[in-house]
Amino acid sequence: MVKRLILTGAPGSGKGTWSKILSDTFSLPHISSGDLFRKELADDSPLGQQVRSYVEQGALVPDELTIKLVEKTLAEGPGQNGFILDGFPRTIAQALALDGILAATGVKLDAVIALDVDEAILVERALSRMICRGCGQPYNTSVTRPNQEGVCDRCGGEVVRRSDDTQETLQRRLLLYHEQTKPLADYYRDQGILVKLENNGPPDQTVQQELFQMLESTCSGA
Ligand SMILES: [Zn+2]
Repeated sequence: MVKRLILTGAPGSGKGTWSKILSDTFSLPHISSGDLFRKELADDSPLGQQVRSYVEQGALVPDELTIKLVEKTLAEGPGQNGFILDGFPRTIAQALALDGILAATGVKLDAVIALDVDEAILVERALSRMICRGCGQPYNTSVTRPNQEGVCDRCGGEVVRRSDDTQETLQRRLLLYHEQTKPLADYYRDQGILVKLENNGPPDQTVQQELFQMLESTCSGA
């Protein structure tokens, strides 16, 4: 049975989109590391205050803090009942820590989906991304434009280009991905739970069926 999943892939590889599809299909909570940070910041919790000190400096939140946050979230129920993790683990150190957290409660991951997208498509997608300032709904300049130019369909807020989506920051994020996150595929392949999905096109029914079949066979240990 599909219960504990990780989605991994380069920035712009479609992790958010697939998290939503999988979350709806298998009735599992979607846990995104970005959302976790934003929630702690909004709650101004002790962990949130630590996160803020890094975010304000424009620094990456250190592994130790991210791991604590994920551990706390999984302990609230998803660790036992199932989850889709998106944006975590981002490094081998985080993957080792996650294995430890799950092992301590006697459970393990069922599958890790690695989204594989051509670099040229990643660049094109990133540079066309837009976001609503009001509710955070993502849009882009091609397929998912808002009905009215610059106005959010959901909340009427202002839809803008993301300020961090420039060619330069994108190259830096891709480099970080290749150095730190891509090695996760080998780590999980060795555990026999890696599912690779080529995600250069839209997530239509055919691709969804392909992924669900790969997941079923991986999760049943076949
Ligand atoms: Zn909105």
